[in-house]
Amino acid sequence: MNQSEHATARQSAEEYVRSARRIVAFTGAGISAESGIPTYRDAENSLWSKYEPDKLATIDAFMSNSTLYWRFFQDVRYQAIKRARPNAAHLALAAMERAGRLQAVITQNIDGLHQAAGSREVIELHGNTRTIRCLACQAEYGMDEIFEQLKYELPPACLRCGGRLKPAVVFFGEELPGDAMERAAKLANACDLLIAVGSSLVVYPAAAIPTAAKRNGARLIIVNRTATPYDDLADAVLRESAGEVLPPLARAAGIR
Ligand code: NAD
Repeated sequence: MNQSEHATARQSAEEYVRSARRIVAFTGAGISAESGIPTYRDAENSLWSKYEPDKLATIDAFMSNSTLYWRFFQDVRYQAIKRARPNAAHLALAAMERAGRLQAVITQNIDGLHQAAGSREVIELHGNTRTIRCLACQAEYGMDEIFEQLKYELPPACLRCGGRLKPAVVFFGEELPGDAMERAAKLANACDLLIAVGSSLVVYPAAAIPTAAKRNGARLIIVNRTATPYDDLADAVLRESAGEVLPPLARAAGIR
């Protein structure tokens, strides 16, 4: 894309935001990249270029050897999430919601940065790392508590029953939470503009949300640094970074 194509795409996107009445955002790992949380798939600095997904993030791997996951949580995940602060893109979406110009954020992220930015209607399709749950007795713990426990027990066990602890994230091979999926589908089916931000749109249900929105006649804006399989379906494709693009879109929505 050259400069003038970028400018045209931005102008169209701003016009769509201005005229929309029911805007929904759909976000992926890319929106948090500028907050210092690596994405899964970007070639450089991504999690999967350093760790193998089938050894770390599948439910089978977790059930057969959770030590590997908890070590990763202790050395990488926890630190990255604790350090991260919402960036301009998260803040722009939160401001749009406060002004009544955004209905909800549907996210694949597990980092809690939308909530930290002030978004209230956040639908977490892949769960979150704030809560750690015992698979045996369902007792719940906060991630800070478990981080402390990891210093003397790896893998950590439930303090109540000794059961296996698992973060409330959806691992590969697990079902997505039905209630979150239902809410997301309802929003996608009723919005008149879906803004997809920072998702490669390759992991299910990432693909299902933009297509559902388009099927219901909504416009689709894709903000992603690299091409996605749905670019042809989109009304505007902004191949730029989320932190640069979302603030002007929020201004187009009337945020000052
Ligand atoms: P992905 O890694 O597949 O794709 C991220 C996309 O964001 C890439 O296409 C990349 O080009 C783009 N990108 C990178 N930096 C960007 C920026 N600054 N602005 C705009 N775009 C940018 O991410 P996905 O589609 O969310 O993949 C799904 C899985 O990744 C989910 O399961 C999610 O739970 C998990 N994940 C979450 C986090 C997090 O919570 N922050 C981090 C890593 C992975």
